[in-house]
Amino acid sequence: MQKDTVIIGAGLSGLTVAWKLKQIRNHSILLLEQSERAGGAISSHSEDGYLPEGGPHGFLDNCAESQALLAETGLDQECLKAPLAEFVRYVCMDGKLRLIPQSPGKILAAPLISPLEKLRVAGDLFKKPLQGEPTVSEWVSYRFGKALLPYVDAVFTGTYAGDLERLVIDGVMPGVRKIEKEHGSLIYGLIKKMMAAKKTNTGKKKGLPAMTSFPSGMGRLAERLHENPDNEQEIRYNCPVTSILKDSEQWQVRSNEETFHCRNLVLALPVNNALSLLSPLSTPPQEKVPEARIVNIGLGFGDDTTLPPGFGFLTPEREQRFCLGALFSSNMFPGRAPKGHVMLEALVGGRRHPEHLELDDATLIREAVKDLQQLIDLPSQPTYAHVLWPHTGIPQLEAGYPALLEWRNELMQKEKGLYITGFGWEGIGINDMIKTAFRVSEAIKRGEQDSGEKNAEVKKVYF
Ligand SMILES: Cc1cc2nc3c(=O)[nH]c(=O)nc-3n(C[C@H](O)[C@H](O)[C@H](O)COP(=O)(O)OP(=O)(O)OC[C@H]3O[C@@H](n4cnc5c(N)ncnc54)[C@H](O)[C@@H]3O)c2cc1C
Repeated sequence: MQKDTVIIGAGLSGLTVAWKLKQIRNHSILLLEQSERAGGAISSHSEDGYLPEGGPHGFLDNCAESQALLAETGLDQECLKAPLAEFVRYVCMDGKLRLIPQSPGKILAAPLISPLEKLRVAGDLFKKPLQGEPTVSEWVSYRFGKALLPYVDAVFTGTYAGDLERLVIDGVMPGVRKIEKEHGSLIYGLIKKMMAAKKTNTGKKKGLPAMTSFPSGMGRLAERLHENPDNEQEIRYNCPVTSILKDSEQWQVRSNEETFHCRNLVLALPVNNALSLLSPLSTPPQEKVPEARIVNIGLGFGDDTTLPPGFGFLTPEREQRFCLGALFSSNMFPGRAPKGHVMLEALVGGRRHPEHLELDDATLIREAVKDLQQLIDLPSQPTYAHVLWPHTGIPQLEAGYPALLEWRNELMQKEKGLYITGFGWEGIGINDMIKTAFRVSEAIKRGEQDSGEKNAEVKKVYF
């Protein structure tokens, strides 16, 4: 079968590339998906009036490409928003939930660390860029002092379910690292950047962003993207791609049963799935990246339960708790629990506690409830409990990742018609995936190669 573009993987990345390419006239597309469903990591679960998520819970409305996608698909008319300014968040410290202010100024003013430790944070102004490929923990300790580590730990637990002793700063925050290398001090560099942005008035939305989802959960995003009104787009399910091969100007894509031919080949896959297909073309600097798996435990409680106000909480490793954190889902979005009930979703496992994922569902529920009851006033038994096992692990951008990304960029330049995007390449969040998918589809439209992101942006950190 011959197509203009074959896309391997019908997760958010592949679906977004397909959505954008459908806008080119007479451009044939085929999506190949190994499982029986589209959406990949996205997986909303509706049961007994509860709506927990097995994958992403939402995304922030501060990414131009995601906003454009919502407008193009009409999903901007459906989406639900929970503004960060109206929903507080907590970090578990010394066995208690402590409220975290959202602006850097308020964080510094809050009594989270001692005055001496606050002075040490300003020490960043006098530090030279840290050489090599430091871990997040090494980098934060060097620039701002160790007092911030538990809070930074909470941030990377909430995003990567990762270990800040292993994630590398060049992998997870390339934009921040670039500023450090250009200006020496990160604080000074950020102030300069803010002043320049004020002058040019880039039109970016001011204030805190909002968390976005949909009445039927994040599954709606995948569902809308693979609706096929004009029949130009095809998706082949249960079709795992086993190998790819360059054959003069064409790509050959093989599954167990069929071979497909195309001019443009898009790998819209998590890093490790992509590496196994790409290795025969060029030896990568590492065979695999580590992954962190988390289970999400949806827990419903009846009548008299009141959750603390806000989004939820995260726990740094030093607290030694069973749950990595929990989302107060029924506070965030309407329709997550039946009337008169609340739902929270506990996160368990991650890079540091894969042993928790060896437990059976009943034990996971029991241990999670026991842990949460020490922090929140909850009845002894939930009225609803469901363990959602993830479809995929979260790629961990650890030692060697910057070299791997460099290798991918060189490969995309060398191999005409090859585009590599997806979970773990240039970030791990929904907004990262949509942004990269837009860039890839633009390159295909122009008949150019993609060279990877050139100007890594500074992403704001929210707990
Ligand atoms: C538990 C969890 C929670 C998350 N929470 C959030 C959150 O709250 N906010 C946020 O912004 N992001 C979150 N994320 C990240 C977000 O889900 C991802 O960024 C995004 O879904 C990745 O989409 P993708 O299409 O790149 O990859 P995937 O969703 O992994 O899709 C890849 C697809 O490729 C298919 N595939 C793999 N190999 C082959 C092959 N050889 N042949 C054919 N098909 C193949 C897979 O079956 C899959 O469908 C979370 C992720 C997880 C796992």
